[in-house]
Amino acid sequence: MQDTSLYEYLLGLKSPWSVGRVNLNVKDQQVDVWATHEEGAVWGCPKCSRELVLYDHAEERVWRHLDSCQYKTFLHARIPRVHCPDHGVLQVMVPWAEPKSRFTILFERLAIDVLLQCDVSGATRILRISWDEAWGLMDRAVKRGQKRKSRKVVKRIGVDEKAAAKGHRYLTLVCDLEEGTVEHVAEDRTQESLDEYYRELTTEQLEGIEAVAMDMWTPYVKATVTRVPDAAEKIVFDRFHVMGHVGKAVDTVRKQEHRELLQEGDETLKGSKYLWLYSRENVPEHRLDEFKALIHLELKVGRAWAIKEALRRLWHYVYPASGKKYWKKWYFWATHSRLDPIRKAAETLRRHIDNILTYFQHPVTNAMSEGLNSKIQKIKSMACGFRNIENFKTAIYFHCGGLELYPC
Ligand SMILES: [Zn+2]
Repeated sequence: MQDTSLYEYLLGLKSPWSVGRVNLNVKDQQVDVWATHEEGAVWGCPKCSRELVLYDHAEERVWRHLDSCQYKTFLHARIPRVHCPDHGVLQVMVPWAEPKSRFTILFERLAIDVLLQCDVSGATRILRISWDEAWGLMDRAVKRGQKRKSRKVVKRIGVDEKAAAKGHRYLTLVCDLEEGTVEHVAEDRTQESLDEYYRELTTEQLEGIEAVAMDMWTPYVKATVTRVPDAAEKIVFDRFHVMGHVGKAVDTVRKQEHRELLQEGDETLKGSKYLWLYSRENVPEHRLDEFKALIHLELKVGRAWAIKEALRRLWHYVYPASGKKYWKKWYFWATHSRLDPIRKAAETLRRHIDNILTYFQHPVTNAMSEGLNSKIQKIKSMACGFRNIENFKTAIYFHCGGLELYPC
């Protein structure tokens, strides 16, 4: 078999295309392949598919193809141009690459597989491409996937904020809680950040939203109320965020009490910070005795902790009426605890209680996107080289967007 026929097979070239010439460069470990086409072939206009004869050729272009063994392989061709009466002079489509790509489709597919498996700098070494080329491939894959994405209704969404980098830049992530995918990434955590997502939805998609899990964060509430019909019944404040709020109050009680005790030379609370933040069942075994001893000491922080733990039971209720009754009891206890931080936290929750209790209708939390969170955390940790926030967004869509990334 001649090397030209061999490469016709390897590249999958079909009439009117064939391989005209192959050049092996041993010194640079490189194979160059030139594709040519039959004379008199008929070409489709890339816009309307009308069959046309050759008008002229564009300048020679080069595409990186899959390696031939360890040899980097490049395909060269001059793309025919046609003159369509309706669309003017245009380059025709070639079967081996997408328009404007500098890689063949087969190479892009491999590159996507590699990029899905390792970080960008690892992928550049394996694929022997540059950093910018790798990002270009990811960006194109994401855009391709987004274009193909169907406009289906996402019933349960979670809105989450993420610190994008040091310097406290935030990203707003909208997740499909059922599919576990990131639907939208926006900069900042303003009303506009979330509105960006809603704005792109059709009326049907907006009406189809059944529940929105989020933090008690006014800009997100405003965005949702403005766009989603009957939002008041659909917003569910994330229970872990609610608990986190009370957890912070417990910690404030501990700090204050610890300071008071220290003034009397009492170090009882030294090193106990995390013990009070655990849920009862999560206290590590090696610290269990220490913890049991502490809760019997009738400390203020012990009371605060008990109030926090009691609040967790709120989410165990099934019937809204019983849940509401329990909430009232808890609120009375918290506000009469003579623990200022706890009282304040309880009052904050009261202001948001309607959309905490919506949990009984829609048991959603952002924890379902915790799995996603750890994935994003990983993206962040390997993102030391992300030169800008756009790359970070691209990486999130690439890894978590549930998109069809491959060229076809
Ligand atoms: Zn045309």
